[in-house]
Amino acid sequence: MTERAYFDWNATTPLRAEAREAMLAALGQPGNASSVHAEGRVARQAIEKARLQVAALAGADAKNVIFTSGATEANMLALTPALETVGGKAPRDRLFVSAVEHPSVRSGGRFPSDKVEILPVDANGIVDLAALKATLARAERPLVSVMLANNETGVIQPIADIAAIVHAANGLLHVDAVQGAGRIDCDMTALGADLMSLSSHKLSGPQGVGALLRRDGIHIAEPLIRGGGQERNLRAGTENVAAIAGFGAAAEAADRARQADALRMAALRDRFEAALKAQTPAAVIFGGNAGRLPNTTLFAAPGLKAETAIISFDLNGIAVSSGAACSSGKVQISSVLTAMGVEDDLARGAVRVSLGWTTTVADIDLLLNAWMRVASTLLKSHANAA
Ligand code: PMP
Repeated sequence: MTERAYFDWNATTPLRAEAREAMLAALGQPGNASSVHAEGRVARQAIEKARLQVAALAGADAKNVIFTSGATEANMLALTPALETVGGKAPRDRLFVSAVEHPSVRSGGRFPSDKVEILPVDANGIVDLAALKATLARAERPLVSVMLANNETGVIQPIADIAAIVHAANGLLHVDAVQGAGRIDCDMTALGADLMSLSSHKLSGPQGVGALLRRDGIHIAEPLIRGGGQERNLRAGTENVAAIAGFGAAAEAADRARQADALRMAALRDRFEAALKAQTPAAVIFGGNAGRLPNTTLFAAPGLKAETAIISFDLNGIAVSSGAACSSGKVQISSVLTAMGVEDDLARGAVRVSLGWTTTVADIDLLLNAWMRVASTLLKSHANAA
């Protein structure tokens, strides 16, 4: 088989050894965490350890971590009018989400669609702060949802500035930190986030588990899933102990390695981008001049079609994706790029390279060799056709 290299870490990541070990240990135990017997207490202990580990990653209090089936569910749980604060029980009257949010946020959660507004972004996909300030004046108790870093471009939002504007407008801020967590600092207090969503499988934990974190004093009056009293009555259903344990172990490992990993990834990413530009001067790197995650490059070249480029990369041993992987294998024009004002023709060719803590220089060289072959066939056929 051809040598392969994986560059789709923003879609999902390989499991860390620490996570696998924690999962295997939990899978070897029979207990239900709600049972009072010794076996139940072992399961409970595994969950509470993970709660501390996940809380530490985001500077939250462990009691404010709600485990869910993933960030999609965490986003749905957070985006409800029924958010109460100390001394404030009236429902949130409007939801504002940025134009570059993940579909699970853009769908508006549990708000009626006529109460959801889209916040405009600039050419880098960054929320327009003046527009935000003006827009929030239209609500009495707004809820705002802005992601920490974009899954397609890696562009980082000025969350602390956004939080200051939101709080001055009597609002609450939810931050989808799925792509930032474990890659950049995601301390909730420093960011000023009232609620934060995390996903285990983007930080080398297992798939199918995530968490919603809240700051002290935020109460979610309407759970999404009712039943038994698990997760402080906020998420019913027997906990997936092994997945939660794996998430906790991965969060701790990612947090410990974060700064060293980020430096290494940024150097590899820069090596790739410099070579890409040297080889294909017409290539455009989206959000290239903005602050970005250390691991993400979204690029296009005139004439490139993402669908064929991705297949061609795959045949050359390289796993990359078009902007978003979440649309069941379909390559559509990315709504993120449209919101950034990118022309449809260029956006159709957007290829996302996202790397991770196991990526090596040799992997980058494989990627560049593959790009040389992809570009020489696909871009040549464009030149001939023109
Ligand atoms: N938000 C962002 C920014 C994402 O990238 C993703 C995963 N594609 C999600 C939310 C959804 O996470 P999960 O897969 O855990 O439901």
